[in-house]
Amino acid sequence: MFKETLSFDDVLLSPRYSDIISRSDVDLSLDIGTTRKMMLPVFGAPMDTIMNSDMAAALYEAGARGIMHRYCSIEEQALAVRKVSSTVEVFGAIGVTGDYTERAVALVGAGAAGLCIDVAHGHHLSVVNAIKSIRQMFPNIHIMAGNVATLEAFNCLAEAGATSIRVGVGGGSICSTRLQTGHGVPTFQSVLDCAASDTNALLIADGGIKNTGDMVKALAAGADAVMVGSMLSGTSETPGSIVTKAGEPPMKVYRGMASPEAQIEWRGRYSSNEGVSRTVRLKGPVHKVLFEMDKGIRSGLSYSGARNISRLQASCIFIKQTSAGTKESSTHIDS
Ligand code: IMP
Repeated sequence: MFKETLSFDDVLLSPRYSDIISRSDVDLSLDIGTTRKMMLPVFGAPMDTIMNSDMAAALYEAGARGIMHRYCSIEEQALAVRKVSSTVEVFGAIGVTGDYTERAVALVGAGAAGLCIDVAHGHHLSVVNAIKSIRQMFPNIHIMAGNVATLEAFNCLAEAGATSIRVGVGGGSICSTRLQTGHGVPTFQSVLDCAASDTNALLIADGGIKNTGDMVKALAAGADAVMVGSMLSGTSETPGSIVTKAGEPPMKVYRGMASPEAQIEWRGRYSSNEGVSRTVRLKGPVHKVLFEMDKGIRSGLSYSGARNISRLQASCIFIKQTSAGTKESSTHIDS
């Protein structure tokens, strides 16, 4: 028996009557239990070609949040958190083996507003045990965990004590998990399924979000926030130098953390190969990208006549589109 699943491009939101006069009447705020609410429900991914102190500061300024990646020494990661955490809320990523509890202590000591247990297959005994240990050490801190693809997994991590859960396995733009392992679920479908949870954990749609349209679809399907890598890639703030080749535009590297390139750089060898490394065009300062995101999501809510995300979730009407519809939904002018 096969379950039919839906991807972002399979669906659209049907426009609804709206009395929203200005996009500024739309409230995108999200309480994540830290000192300040998020005003733009977007997390920057904990990846070594996306996150650093500059990116975290720019995200915070726009109302979003960054998660400092864990592909460096504990001291380096704690320093990157400390550099901004007097003025900026930032999360820190940890693993589930080795010195992960020491890393957690150092990050919280450096001022991290939350911890992210950052694992590819989150429906796992080690993740459950890590959530429980961190919850015991820090009873009140925001613990983000993941990634998961199913309602059973979402409930499992929520019951272990996670505050928020990253939902999406195999959908990332730089991800080859589905090709390598045959496993995964379209992220949009996972969001729909996990949104049925009756736990209080926040749902963060993660992987394969290509544009603000996908963000609005994820929020309407039940996500509290989204996480992005590729949409921030190539911006001025991202780590890494500019790659120039004769006759080609300047580029920057964006790579999966399970790509051979990333694994070799961070631990000198690679085991499973579940990501790719690519170069992307430069996009300029990230505040321009975040400005567009904010406007796009607000506009999306106003098309559904919704003043906030819970109204969007209550009143949205999803429709399924054919492949001809998907083609029409993209810009399609002949050049
Ligand atoms: P994107 O926004 O589509 O580029 O996806 C970013 C997400 O991909 C991250 O937040 C992670 O959940 C996921 N990810 C990062 N590195 C890898 C990898 O090497 N393989 C698979 N997924 C990855």
